[in-house]
Amino acid sequence: MFRIASIGLTAIMLGASSQSSPVERPDPGVALALAEQRAARVSNLRYELHFTIPEAQTAAVHGRVTLRFDLADPARPLVLDFAAPQDAVTDGTLNGRLAKPEYSIDHLVIAPSDLRKGVNEITLEFRSADAPLNRNPEFLYALFVPARARQAFPCFDQPDLKARYTLSLDVPKGWEALSNAAATTRDDRGTHSTLRFEETRPISTYLFTFAAGRFQIETAERNGRRFRMLHRETDAAKVARNKDGIFDLHAGALAWLEAYTGIPYPFGKFEFLLVPSFQFGGMEHPGSVYYSASGLFLDESATQNQKLGRASLIAHETAHMWFGDLVTMRWFNDVWMKEVFANFMAAKIVNPAFPEINHDLRFLYAHYPAAYDVDRTAGTNAIRQPLENLNEAGSLYGAIIYQKAPIVMRHLEMLLGADAFREGLREYLNAYAFGNATWSDLIAMLDRRTPDDLAAWSRAWVEEAGRPVVTTELKTDAKAVESLALTQHDPSAARGLLWAQPLSVAVGYRRDGVATKVRLTGPRVDVPLAPSGSARPLYVLPNNDGVSYGNFVLDPASRAHLLAALPDDEVARGSTLVMLWEEMVDGRIVSEVMFDSLLATVAVERNELTIQRMLGYLQRAYWRWIPADYRAKRARNLEQVLREGLDAARTTSVKSAWFNALRDMAVTPPTLAWLERVWRKTETVPGLILAEPDYITLAQELALRGGPNAEAILEEQIGRTLNPDRKARMVFVRPSLSADTTVRDAFFVQLNDPVRRRREAWVLEGLGYLHHPLRAASAEQHVGASLDMLREIQRTGDIFFPKRWMDATLSGHTSAAVADAVTAFLGALPEDYPDRLRRIILSAADDLFRVTRRGR
Ligand SMILES: [Zn+2]
Repeated sequence: MFRIASIGLTAIMLGASSQSSPVERPDPGVALALAEQRAARVSNLRYELHFTIPEAQTAAVHGRVTLRFDLADPARPLVLDFAAPQDAVTDGTLNGRLAKPEYSIDHLVIAPSDLRKGVNEITLEFRSADAPLNRNPEFLYALFVPARARQAFPCFDQPDLKARYTLSLDVPKGWEALSNAAATTRDDRGTHSTLRFEETRPISTYLFTFAAGRFQIETAERNGRRFRMLHRETDAAKVARNKDGIFDLHAGALAWLEAYTGIPYPFGKFEFLLVPSFQFGGMEHPGSVYYSASGLFLDESATQNQKLGRASLIAHETAHMWFGDLVTMRWFNDVWMKEVFANFMAAKIVNPAFPEINHDLRFLYAHYPAAYDVDRTAGTNAIRQPLENLNEAGSLYGAIIYQKAPIVMRHLEMLLGADAFREGLREYLNAYAFGNATWSDLIAMLDRRTPDDLAAWSRAWVEEAGRPVVTTELKTDAKAVESLALTQHDPSAARGLLWAQPLSVAVGYRRDGVATKVRLTGPRVDVPLAPSGSARPLYVLPNNDGVSYGNFVLDPASRAHLLAALPDDEVARGSTLVMLWEEMVDGRIVSEVMFDSLLATVAVERNELTIQRMLGYLQRAYWRWIPADYRAKRARNLEQVLREGLDAARTTSVKSAWFNALRDMAVTPPTLAWLERVWRKTETVPGLILAEPDYITLAQELALRGGPNAEAILEEQIGRTLNPDRKARMVFVRPSLSADTTVRDAFFVQLNDPVRRRREAWVLEGLGYLHHPLRAASAEQHVGASLDMLREIQRTGDIFFPKRWMDATLSGHTSAAVADAVTAFLGALPEDYPDRLRRIILSAADDLFRVTRRGR
C-alpha cells in the first residue's frame, strides 16, 4: 500500500456507508508516524472498560469501552486501534451521536464531524479476539505486550499514551479475578458475579491487564503490605513449601527498590498470578504480575540455579514497577531499556539473599554465554534497533536485550561509579514518573556526571551490533617475557569499530595469576609487566575477572595450558571456561578436545554454578559438536563420569543437575535400564527427590530412545499424572515421541493450524523431541516447512515464539543437507521478507553452519 511518509496515512474513499468526503486510512499495525501524530493530539486519556466473560471457552468475550480524552486538533480524522473483524464493533456513541466509526484494517477511524476540540467521549460495544486473552477451560488471562490490547478492545495502543483505566468484569460464579487496581466490589447474581476495580494510575496499554478463573488464593502480610498470590497448583504440599519464600522475595525486592530509587512503590496494591505453561518467565503488569507457575513453585529437587532463577525473576518483575511501568519507553525501539534495568537491578537485589553464592560468577554465567550465542552470529543485532511499526515489536526481544545489555549497563556503572549512576537514575525516574522517556534522555542525564564521552561509548555498545576480537600478543624468549599487549579489532573490517571497556589481564605462574587492570580504548593496549623481565608464565589470561566482553583469542601456549588446567580462582575459572567454549565455536579448539577437557574438569569441579555450566556445554558438545562416531565411542565413559558425579554430589540441587544431564545424554542399554527402574520407582537414587514433572521428563526421554516399553511408559505416565495442566501437556506432546514416523509427521503437520500452536511451551517441547539428534534424520524433511511457517508464526504467536520455534527446529540437526536447505531458503527470500526474521534464522542456524563447514 502506498504510504505518505510524513504521517503514514493514505487518503482514500471508504465504502458506501461512509460519508462522502475522503478519510485517511491508516497502515495496518501501529505505525510510528501514527503514534507520534496521536501522542501530539491526545491527552488526559481515560478508559472505562467492561468485559463479559462466559463460562464456555468457545463463547465470545464481549465488552464495552468508553474513552474520554482531550483532543488538540479535531479537524482531522482520529484513528483508534482495533485489530478485529469488521463486524466486531456492535454499537457506538461518538460524542453523543449514535454511530460507529469507519472500519479499516486494524483500525477504527472517527471522522472530524464526530470530534470536538477539548473533551471527547467515545463509547463502543465490541467482541474481543480470543488470542490475547489466553482462554483456557477454567481461566483466562489478558497479555497485551507488546501491542495486543488492540485485539481485545478499541484503544490507542502505544506506550506513550498512558491512561487511567476503570474496569468491571462479569465472570462465571465462583471465578476469582484480578487486574492492575484492587477490586472494590463483588456482586453475585445468578450464574455470574460482577467485580468492579478502582481506577488505575496512568499506565500504558501493554501493561493493562485482567485475569479471571478458578484460582486458589494465598495471602500474606510483609512490611505492612498485603500480598495476594493466585494460582492453580493442585499439590498442596508444594504450595505450602513455596509460598512464604515467594512472599519474602517480593517484599525484599520491593524494599530494596524503594531504598535504591528513593521512590515508594508507585502502584498501590501488589498481587501476582501463577499461570500454568505461561509464555514468558513473568510479565510485569503494575500491581498484577504474571509468572510461569513452574518458575515460582519449585520442586524439592530444585537446583541452586533454579532457586537463584526464581529470586532473579521476582526481582526482575518487581524492578519493572519503576523501570518500565513508572517510567516507560516512548516507543518499543527502547524496550531494551526496561529489560536491562530489570535484569541489572535483579542482579543487585538477589545478591544479599544468597550470601553463599559467588555473584560475579553468577552474573558471568547468566549473561555472557547467551549473549555470545547471538552476538557471534551473522544474525545479531544492535541493542537499540529502529522500529517502524509495533506489529514487528515482538521480534526486538532476545539475548542481545536480555543478556548483552546488562553487561553493557554494568560497564556504564563502572564508568560512572555506583553513586553517580544511582543519582542519575533517581533524577531520570523523578523527571519522567508516570510518563515516557528515551535512551537519549537518560544518556543526557548521565553524561553530565562523567568526563567521558558517553555518546561515543553508546554508539559502539548500544547502537551497533557485534563484539570485538581481543587478541593476546605475548612475546617471550626462552626464559622471560619481552612484551605483553592486547589488541582489538572489529570482525566487520569495513566498519572498523573500537569498543572501550575495562580489561583485567592475569599472568599465571602457578594455578592463579597476577592480575593487571588496564582500559582498552584504542586498537592496542600494552600490559605493564612487573617486575620487568618477568619469568616466562604458564599462561596469560585476559578477562580473568569476567567483566570484559568480546571474542578472546588466547596465545597457543596459554590455550593448551588452560585446556588442561583451569585457574583456581572461581571467577577466573568461569571466565576461562566461557572463553575456551568460544574458542572452540570459532574453530581454534577441536570439538573432541574440548569435549574431553570438559569431561575431565567437570569430574573434579566443586562449584555448583560451574558444574551446571560445564554440564550444559558438555551436553551441547555431545549432541551438536562432536561427530556421531566420537559420541558413540565416548558414551560409556561420559555416563560413568555422570553417574560418579551423581553419587558424589552432596546437595539435592547439584544431585539433580547431574541426574538431569545423565537423563538427557544417556544412550547405553545399562544406563537406560537403570533410568527405567528409577522411573518405575523400583530403584531410588539416595538424596534425589523426583517430583511429577521429573517423572514426566524421564518418561519422555526414555520413550525418545525407543525401547520396547516406550509407548507403555508414556501411557502409564499419563495415567500417573495428577495435575490436569501437566497431563494435557503430555497428551499433546506424546505423538512427537512416537517410534512411528507417520505419527511424528502428523504431529508436525497439525501445527499448521494456529489453534494447535496456541500453547507455545507445549509446541516447543514437542518440536524439540521431533528434531532431537536421535531422530534428526527422519525430521530433516520438516525443516523446510518449519522455515516456511516462520512468518505466520511471528504473526500469530507471542514475542519469543519465532526464535524459539527456529531453535527447536534446528538445534538437533548437524547434517550438510539441512545446512544447505537453510542456506537455500535464505538465498530465495522475497524482497519484503522481514529482516528480523532473516536474522532469527541466521542466529538459530549458526551452530549448524559452523559444524557442517568443518566437514562433517
Ligand atoms: Zn522484563
